[in-house]
Amino acid sequence: MPATWTALAKQKGYKLLGRGARKSDVALHCPRCTQTFQVRSSVLVNNAPECKHCLWQRRFADAMATDATILAPDPDNHKLVHLQLPCGHFTCRQYSRLTTAARGGHRLGCEECREETYRAQARAIGWTLVGLATDKTGGYRRYAHSCGHQQDVAIVNVDKNQLDCAGCGESWVSKPSQIYLFRIELVDRPVLKLGHSSDPERRLFQQLGPAARDTGEVLRAIDMETGHAALVAEKRAHRTMRTEHPEWVVPREEFAGQINTKSEIYEIGALEFLLSLMDEIEAEARDDKASASDPVEPDPEEPDPEPE
Ligand SMILES: [Zn+2]
Ligand SMILES: [Zn+2]
Ligand SMILES: [Zn+2]
Repeated sequence: MPATWTALAKQKGYKLLGRGARKSDVALHCPRCTQTFQVRSSVLVNNAPECKHCLWQRRFADAMATDATILAPDPDNHKLVHLQLPCGHFTCRQYSRLTTAARGGHRLGCEECREETYRAQARAIGWTLVGLATDKTGGYRRYAHSCGHQQDVAIVNVDKNQLDCAGCGESWVSKPSQIYLFRIELVDRPVLKLGHSSDPERRLFQQLGPAARDTGEVLRAIDMETGHAALVAEKRAHRTMRTEHPEWVVPREEFAGQINTKSEIYEIGALEFLLSLMDEIEAEARDDKASASDPVEPDPEEPDPEPE
């Protein structure tokens, strides 16, 4: 070994011990951690050798500062590390991100938890998170409205309940709405439709098809503070009908092609009961404005109601 290497090693903060296991390596002693490591001699000559033990001590300290656990270095990319986050999810990050978070005194964000939050925010206002926005812009996601229409929306607007549907034109989420009860004549008998809409008459005469346009009648409409409150109340009413009075639920095939909707059509015999349900909704809307903040529970058995 050239005699100058001893001085070179000292200059770079280490003590040269001798040749490494391979002929091209040198063994260095690190005074900071008092351990030995090996580097290519060319690194000693041309670069600043870095003690691997000190490096990993730093990485583990960074991980601990962010409450993450280092699982393994990425086998394909020396800049990446596999981690378990404090929430339990697994992720892969650059070491530099770990260091930045540790220095900033904060945790690493979790993509999975974040998306779950976005999903819940959307669910609470009658939308469904579909996935990334078409143009993959950071602050946007793709959402599906309960009418079936999908659009890219700024995440912040979903969180703030500030989005309108370009598909059905409704912006019922934050604006006043109504719970309505319609009477519509099918070819063989009259039926009832319960739903919510910011404009029941428009809903009845323009969106439900010819039978509704020609024979429809608004029997009653209740003012609701927000479309969200209306949706919550409406879903609960339909659930009550399905569980307590399934005999009044008109099967879809009996009105298919006559009323442009998927469900929530009832026999005329349900009139008194539906009116009493609406009495309850009206009393609650008046007395308990807190109901507007109830989350909309996803209903595993039934498709989401249309924005009625
Ligand atoms: Zn060291
Ligand atoms: Zn997580
Ligand atoms: Zn819509």
